[in-house]
Amino acid sequence: MSEPQSFEVLIIGAGPAGLGAALYTARAQLKTLVLGFPFKSAIAKAEKVANYLSYPDMVGGKEFQERSLAHCKKYGAVHLEEEAVNLQPREGGGFLVETDKRQSFAAKAVIIACGKSYKLAGIKDEQRLTGKGVHYCVVCDGFFFKDKRVCVIGHANYAAHEALELLPYTKDLTLFSNGRPWEVSPELLAELKAHQVKMRAEKVLAFEGEKGLETVLFEGNQREKFDGAFVAFGATGATAFANKLGLEMQGTNIQVDAHQQTNLPGVFAAGDCTGADAQAVKSAGDGCSAALSVVRFLRGKTAYIDYKET
Ligand SMILES: Cc1cc2nc3c(=O)[nH]c(=O)nc-3n(C[C@H](O)[C@H](O)[C@H](O)COP(=O)(O)OP(=O)(O)OC[C@H]3O[C@@H](n4cnc5c(N)ncnc54)[C@H](O)[C@@H]3O)c2cc1C
Repeated sequence: MSEPQSFEVLIIGAGPAGLGAALYTARAQLKTLVLGFPFKSAIAKAEKVANYLSYPDMVGGKEFQERSLAHCKKYGAVHLEEEAVNLQPREGGGFLVETDKRQSFAAKAVIIACGKSYKLAGIKDEQRLTGKGVHYCVVCDGFFFKDKRVCVIGHANYAAHEALELLPYTKDLTLFSNGRPWEVSPELLAELKAHQVKMRAEKVLAFEGEKGLETVLFEGNQREKFDGAFVAFGATGATAFANKLGLEMQGTNIQVDAHQQTNLPGVFAAGDCTGADAQAVKSAGDGCSAALSVVRFLRGKTAYIDYKET
């Protein structure tokens, strides 16, 4: 392991939360390192980002990430495509992170912005058609399916909730349990029935279509036309690298207060890894709050001064 390079702020994650935080810490003249893979961010998978304020003409997820990274680097943030594999307190104060490239970095404060991954259903051509008819987030993409024929794949409460969220856009909705027993609460079940959401148990074998989803193939070689499919098995966290820290978690969410402070002084968290309202603009906002908290933590100031205009 190399001698650690020192930074004032270490940000783990290069999605909207991490880059959103880096923009503020870098502009506050804090020596900032961002670790992570901009094109592995959830937003990089979005075909079009249609609900980020100030992008009325939409932007592809990859371009969104390119622009965000360039914005942070413009103000001096350092970015490395490395994975944090261990984060722990450092003797004498601060924190030490080790990466998959056998490098180590020391920092006085840390912002964890490692996002979450949507669970894949493992259906043939699911990844090829992601963003092209196969989706994971109704808040993000439900709008594109006004009055279309849509299915939701999932057997539990999350899927039922996603199906109900689609109702303002379309009434032609089918929920498929994909061969699994239903685990939907009586309350959600009653709502699904009240809104005539069809519930079927067939196993889904493949998503089909050249440029976008056209049909869904079921066990028994049955094929049906659908304009959209929402895979709804929930999300998994990625905080194993922080196991030794003793972070307070609720399920897979890192617990934070209103200023993105975790239970550990000097450790902040932002974005999807903290749960609730998984949206890019919310993650970037969390990143901003976490960065302002870091500035106060390191400088003891009550107000953030954004003094480097160029
Ligand atoms: C297909 C799809 C479409 C979407 N469409 C929209 C949309 O249109 N509008 C919208 O607002 N939201 C959309 N979302 C949701 C949005 O993408 C997320 O809410 C947002 O990206 C969360 O930002 P984040 O920074 O918290 O996490 P992410 O963007 O997921 O970024 C996580 C970052 O952490 C890094 N990372 C993880 N673990 C480590 C580690 N150990 N070491 C170093 N780095 C690590 C990853 O490499 C990545 O850079 C969509 C999501 C998906 C999947």
